[in-house]
Amino acid sequence: MDAIVQSVLAFVLAATGLPAPDAPPRIELVPHEFFVQTVCRGDAHCDAQGWSSGEDTAREFPGLEPGVIYLDERNDFERDAHARGLLAHELTHYVQRTSGAFGPSLVADCVVRIRSEAQAVLVQARYLATQGIPFEAPAAMRMYRCRE
Ligand SMILES: [Zn+2]
Repeated sequence: MDAIVQSVLAFVLAATGLPAPDAPPRIELVPHEFFVQTVCRGDAHCDAQGWSSGEDTAREFPGLEPGVIYLDERNDFERDAHARGLLAHELTHYVQRTSGAFGPSLVADCVVRIRSEAQAVLVQARYLATQGIPFEAPAAMRMYRCRE
């Protein structure tokens, strides 16, 4: 897994132009139930498969530690390009935080949340394009907007 993380992180740094973090994130492979109980607050229809946790989201969701990327253990990162695309997405959020490029929190401000998510989606799409997989905008992205 370390070699995959290093490789995908290098892609993320090239794609974003953000400075390299002092250290790579801690990666934790967790059962899907972990996402149901933490970021989905018990909702069984939870489709989260990855989460990059910072101080900001660790405060919001009990059970998360800052500086950790949680990934659904059902993913096969070695063989499945979509799984590595998910990793690229979460690593983008990691370097967004370590670089401070979007300020102290990715989630406190609606516009920052959308811009940081858009960058992560774009990096994921660019990574998938290198693997021959066409871009599909996540359904959630089309509904993102901020109230006045
Ligand atoms: Zn995201």
